[in-house]
Amino acid sequence: MLVADGLGPADVADLGPDVRGIALAGGGVTAHAAIVARSLGLPMVVGLGDAVLDIADGEPVVVDGDGGRLVRHPAAERTAAAEHDSQRRAGARARARAESHLPSRTRDGRLISVLVNAASAAEVSEGLQQGAEGVGLLRTELSFLDARAWPTASQHVRFLEPLLSQLGGRVATVRLLDFGGDKTPPFLAAAHERGIELMLAAPEALEAQLEAVVEAGQATRLRILVPMVTGLEQVLAVRQALRRVAVAGRAPALGAMIETPEAARRARELVRALDFISLGTNDLTQLALGLDRERSGASPVTHPTVLRLIDSACRAGNAAGIPVEVCGEAASDPVVIPLLVGLGANELSVGAARVGEVRELVRELDTAACRMQVEEALLDQAAHAGREGG
Ligand code: PEP
Ligand code: MG
Repeated sequence: MLVADGLGPADVADLGPDVRGIALAGGGVTAHAAIVARSLGLPMVVGLGDAVLDIADGEPVVVDGDGGRLVRHPAAERTAAAEHDSQRRAGARARARAESHLPSRTRDGRLISVLVNAASAAEVSEGLQQGAEGVGLLRTELSFLDARAWPTASQHVRFLEPLLSQLGGRVATVRLLDFGGDKTPPFLAAAHERGIELMLAAPEALEAQLEAVVEAGQATRLRILVPMVTGLEQVLAVRQALRRVAVAGRAPALGAMIETPEAARRARELVRALDFISLGTNDLTQLALGLDRERSGASPVTHPTVLRLIDSACRAGNAAGIPVEVCGEAASDPVVIPLLVGLGANELSVGAARVGEVRELVRELDTAACRMQVEEALLDQAAHAGREGG
């Protein structure tokens, strides 16, 4: 097991097979290091405080990633329960692969597309083996966190090729570089912006990436996703740049992450210029509630304020008749999935290790029951607002 103060997403991706769990003194549940660990199926617990750094080499512990707990000097039954859990996960993975041919359709016949979030070829491969219909979020920035300058078109192609070549004619949703926050490379250390704002200030870098994506994604159903959108003018600027690099006038689909409260509120205006939207519940939740994503121990997606923003984005997407994807961690949370489906999401993009279980869960859902759950949650919301007001 690895104990540390904090870790970056690239550190987690580079861990060897000997590491079976991670315990951090700091960190947040939707920080990118935690997302990478979850996607690899590696148990990780964050925010344990400095006491965790005292754990001696060889000390027996149980890392309960699902429960967010670290048990030091566990009793024999606790160790046995952890072993059992680990076997259960291995069994679930085998079942996911065996059932990958089953459709992810709700009991009443609604097709919910389950896609994989990926930043490496291994995640694409695992996701496809578990039945993913394609890639719903390719986090391109994670491979360039050590970069000393904006990546060139050929660097992008070298990274994209091994991932996209696995997809054949499937969906490949490639997100433009989302630098900033806990994904800041050395050359942007002084910048305060995030995502598309940074790229629009470096138009050559934007064109280099678009050119590379169009080239490497030729054989796929390519979709380009714009991160941290706050306004229509950003989408229009990317659309224009895309026209300049499109081959033979065939521009790929263009979508926006709805992950800032501004984008959620402006969703009706944005969708007119978009071919799909993808809800980034990780940032949306933290930004809407004023939390610190790199340190927050919770991601309360069902908070009324957040739910209201998700609701308006889904309504806007559904009214425009475009795909509404959710690619934040909420898309694989069994408690939140029925609400997302009830609100009108029709694509869920999740970490590779969770594709099979999410597909299985979708098969157990009933749209009418999901809608009722949403109504109850919104009623709770009214009660909550009443309490706040009174
Ligand atoms: C999100 O914010 O929900 C999201 C999927 O993007 P990222 O986690 O990469 O910020
Ligand atoms: Mg985000």
